Amino acid sequence: MDVSTKLVVGNWKMNGSLAGNAELLGEVTKSAGLGCEVAVCAPFPYLMQVLQILPPRSGIALGAQNVSEFDDGAYTGEVSARMLSDLGCSYVIVGHSERRSLFHEDDGTVGRKTRAALRAGLLPIVCVGETSAERNDGITLEVVTRQLDAVAAEIDGLDVDQIVLAYEPIWAIGSGLTATAEQVGEVHASIRTWTQRVFGSEVTTKILYGGSVKPGNAAELFAVPNVDGGLIGGASLVARDFLAICHAA
Ligand code: PGA
Repeated sequence: MDVSTKLVVGNWKMNGSLAGNAELLGEVTKSAGLGCEVAVCAPFPYLMQVLQILPPRSGIALGAQNVSEFDDGAYTGEVSARMLSDLGCSYVIVGHSERRSLFHEDDGTVGRKTRAALRAGLLPIVCVGETSAERNDGITLEVVTRQLDAVAAEIDGLDVDQIVLAYEPIWAIGSGLTATAEQVGEVHASIRTWTQRVFGSEVTTKILYGGSVKPGNAAELFAVPNVDGGLIGGASLVARDFLAICHAA
């Protein structure tokens, strides 16, 4: 993957409406030349709408926020990676901390979802990160490495060059608290060392930072070594803020 251009991904979470999405995307696509790679991860029911609104040359890619670990079949309520790919999604967020904590996805599930996404030709954005208690206990790097190892264990033989990683300290998500440049730099450097050891040094992996990225702190965070872009929650719902973050990338 080309790490010379930054990637900014909007994670709308469980927000939006037909009218609101049209307005938000209308404003975002009015701005010519975002200067970085951009993707929007919308809730399942709106994926088709987002795809239809995004002009083909907008350069904005479509993503989902979750995917089934299973292939098509008798799994009521699930959405397969093949369906997302069929629809025109490029990305899918896997292992977001809200899914881990609220929907009981463990490291193994996250690994199998990553495998399902890769097998369908999607680019999984795999989220890792520690709780505030884990940070206070001084085990941040250990936790992140354990989460990454669990993914690696499930994707043998698949194209690891397609994987995007996102470091999202759980205590910084939606809290207004942002990790300091020093904290981000330490974890991103450790993730970079991990990708080189496990994926091989010829594989370049984009490592995003997520957690209360705002127009006011984006430039500083994006300047940290080994930060290749951002995963943006709250600020991706406000066109002006999302555009400002893209321009900072
Ligand atoms: P936030 O969310 O930007 O609202 O903190 C980030 C995320 O959960 O991906």
